Formats: sequence, C-alpha cells, structure tokens
Amino acid sequence: MNASADAKPIVVKVGGASVAGGALADLPGLAAGGTPVAVVHGGGKQLTRMLDALGIESEFREGLRVTDEETMRVAEMVFAGEVNGAVVRDLAALGLPAVGVSGTDGGLLRVEPVEGLGRVGAVSGVGTALVEALWRGGFLPVVAPIGLGPVGANAHGAFNVNADSAAAALAVALGAGHLFFLTDVDGFLVDGEAVAGIPPEECEGLVRRGVAAGGMAPKLRAAAVAAKGGVRVRILSGNEPGVLARAVAGENVGTLIAEGVAA
Ligand code: ADP
Ligand code: MG
Repeated sequence: MNASADAKPIVVKVGGASVAGGALADLPGLAAGGTPVAVVHGGGKQLTRMLDALGIESEFREGLRVTDEETMRVAEMVFAGEVNGAVVRDLAALGLPAVGVSGTDGGLLRVEPVEGLGRVGAVSGVGTALVEALWRGGFLPVVAPIGLGPVGANAHGAFNVNADSAAAALAVALGAGHLFFLTDVDGFLVDGEAVAGIPPEECEGLVRRGVAAGGMAPKLRAAAVAAKGGVRVRILSGNEPGVLARAVAGENVGTLIAEGVAA
C-alpha cells in the first residue's frame, strides 16, 4: 500500500471482541487504492481474562480501568504481546503487510497521568513520524494502546491508554479522513437501534445521562474529539462484513459522529 498524495488516511480501531469479526476483510480493498491505513486495537477483554487467571481484580470508572503497577505490567504483556500479535497475524492472513508497534515506540503516544486512575494516561501528544515511515515503506501499522508518560514520572514509563482515545488522537494528528470504531454492537444504540448520527457536542451529555455506559462512554468521548478535529467518525459492527467499504462509499451504516448531523 503506497501512500498516494490525494488519499486521506483511514484509522480503524478494533475492539477486543471484534477482532475476529468479518469487517476487516474490506481493508485490502481500501488499502489497494493507495489510501494509507493504520489500525489501533484495544484488548480490555483479553486483559480481564489474564487478570482473572492471575487473581487480580479491576475497578472501572466511566469505562476506564483503574490501573496499578501490577495491572500495568500485565496490560503491556497482553496489549503489546498477545493482542497486537493476533491482530497483525489476522491482517497478514488477509494479505496485508501489517507491522505491530506499541504506542511507546518512536514517540508515538505521549501521555499525562489521569488523576486518580493510577497508570492510566490521557494522550498529550502524538508523534506521527513512525507511522508515516511505515507507510512510506509500504507497511500497515498496528498500534497497541500504551503511552509513554512524562520523563521522570517513574522508572518504567508505560501507561494504559483507552484504545478509543488513542485512535482518536492518532486520527486527528494524521489528518485522517475517516476514523472507524469497529465494535461488538451495530453503533450507538438507543432502544436497541443504532442512532444514525450524533453531533460531537452532544456526546458528553449522552455519557453524563448514562445513555452511553461502560465502554461506550470513552468511545463517544473519543468520537467527539476526532469529529471536532475534522475527522469523519463512525461506530460500526466489526462482525458485519462489508461495513467499512460501505462507510467509505458514503453509505449510512452504524452511527456517524460529525458536525452538523441531526441527532
Ligand atoms: P470495544 O472493545 O469495541 O471498545 P466496549 O465493550 O468497550 O467495546 O464498548 C462497547 C459496549 O458498550 C457494548 O458492547 C455495550 O455493552 C456498551 N454500551 C453501553 N451503552 C451503549 C449504547 N448506548 N449503545 C451501544 N453500546 C453500549
Ligand atoms: Mg472499549
């Protein structure tokens, strides 16, 4: 996949549960047209499984896992090891030249600690050079959601970054045309139906009123950040083959978060 000058990049975030879904099968077709593609993955479900096996409990606040030192060590193993490797191999099986990197590589994701959540980081800066170098080399970067904390904050420096917020920050920094959140539901649901569109300024209210709960809370917040940064954002089912191609073609699939759409 060679980056062509006129094609704006596409960033795809895959949730832990949607990795096995059929939606990624559209990526070779999208990348073949010369559009640079980057994938960001989560892995909360895999991390929960590993923490359970180790007898470590987690507490969540507004969809974010309170992360102590021990949890962070396991998170890095699971995200940058197990999940990153699995996503890279899934994409390779589709014929894509995927390369796994962690957000701590090459200055990709820099973070500030989030008050009260331990080793949870909020993205404070994105260095795009590594992703752009991989694109120039014809590769498809696959980013694990770990960020590098401030120098001197601690000896180790790795922070747990919500993958939705990492994908949003990366999409804005790269000047992406689209950000797609592939998840295990058809979109942002109200009464079981995917809402067609949400203006970014309404996302925070939906979280505060509890209409978006659990993992949907950070997802909507991240979607609002990316939409305000000029990216077209959609929440889509990762289990529905064809959704990515349909979304790029401008079809109304899943939930669009964009300025000016009717709620
Ligand atoms: P991912 O791994 O894709 O980030 P998450 O589990 O973090 O997935 O977030 C998606 C989940 O958010 C859904 O499976 C659902 O349980 C939950 N959720 C809460 N409120 C909503 C809502 N209004 N619409 C859709 N999903 C919601
Ligand atoms: Mg999530």
